[in-house]
Amino acid sequence: MSGNPAVQPLHLRAVVLPDEEQRELWVDDRGRVTAELVADAETIADRGWVVPGLVDAHCHVGLAAHGGVDEVEQERQISTDRDTGVLLLRDAGAPVDTHWIDDRDDLPRLIRAGRHIARTRRYIRHYGEEIEPDHLVSEVERQAARGDGWVKLVGDWIEREVGDLAPSWPADVAAAAIARAHELGVRVTAHCFGEQSVAELVAAGIDCIEHGTGITDEVAADMARRSTALVPTRVQIGNFPTYAERAVEKFPTYAAHIRDLHAKSDARLHAALDAGVRVYAGTDAGGVLPHGLIAREVLALHEQVGMTAQDALASASWAAREWLGRPRLEPGASADLVVYDEDPRSDLRVLEHPRVVVLRGRAFRPGTPRLT
Ligand SMILES: [Zn+2]
Repeated sequence: MSGNPAVQPLHLRAVVLPDEEQRELWVDDRGRVTAELVADAETIADRGWVVPGLVDAHCHVGLAAHGGVDEVEQERQISTDRDTGVLLLRDAGAPVDTHWIDDRDDLPRLIRAGRHIARTRRYIRHYGEEIEPDHLVSEVERQAARGDGWVKLVGDWIEREVGDLAPSWPADVAAAAIARAHELGVRVTAHCFGEQSVAELVAAGIDCIEHGTGITDEVAADMARRSTALVPTRVQIGNFPTYAERAVEKFPTYAAHIRDLHAKSDARLHAALDAGVRVYAGTDAGGVLPHGLIAREVLALHEQVGMTAQDALASASWAAREWLGRPRLEPGASADLVVYDEDPRSDLRVLEHPRVVVLRGRAFRPGTPRLT
């Protein structure tokens, strides 16, 4: 992290979610939240709603459809996220080193998972570190050292000889790799589309599942019992029919499976929520999808699977921050927040139009040059 140059102190009067009461919030010249009056503060809101900085729990900075991208494109990606109010990103795998971002006070915070760990020729080209199972434990150790407390496995992908989705790793090998990560104090997540991989990885003690379209009622109950998190990437799942269409000629069984997973995805996620599985919003930006889709993802969680607007918003803000070990807006915390003119819980489309985004105490007005 770079040193914290003094910033213009700020003052806000607003309803600070998830609390209901309007209150005064001050930001000191170190960019910290305080309840005490700060001299010479600029009032940037005298009404409105304040949300602790949004979280995208699954995105990729430094990744595009063809693989890694340079720093200019990385900056464009993460600046787009900032301008939508996303100030904390859990990066779910990138083939390039993005640590330079940590030295930039004007760019969001990243929690990295190193590079995707994939089975040889069983993932999108140029994305992952491609290995065979006998190297999984040592590769987890390597990626744990590159990340910020997370490791990302590709849990399943098409196995061409079978013509269908299949787990990338024998269950016992995956279990050993997860155990090793836990010894190192690192959490593990996995890309899982199908039923078998998610059942095996949850039973092996994995910490989180990405996509999770194969979560049956039985697995959902297991996840709830073990507190395994789920990032269902609803916008990405909307692309499944396209993926099936592209594959149908060469791999009809796979295409039919993907279509079936898509058809069941609303009901399965609904059942997982009912079972008590903790769900967080992730856009899967970078790669196939563009950055800046957090509002769409939160809206999808509300409209497609019936999370309340409050819960859907929490899954992209205070609940996700707590899960990732980051503060809300308590005194002493970095002022990472978003101001809206209307209550986003009354209409989640409000998330498309933040009035001001404050990161480390610096105010940004999306769509216009930086204020400070
Ligand atoms: Zn992803």
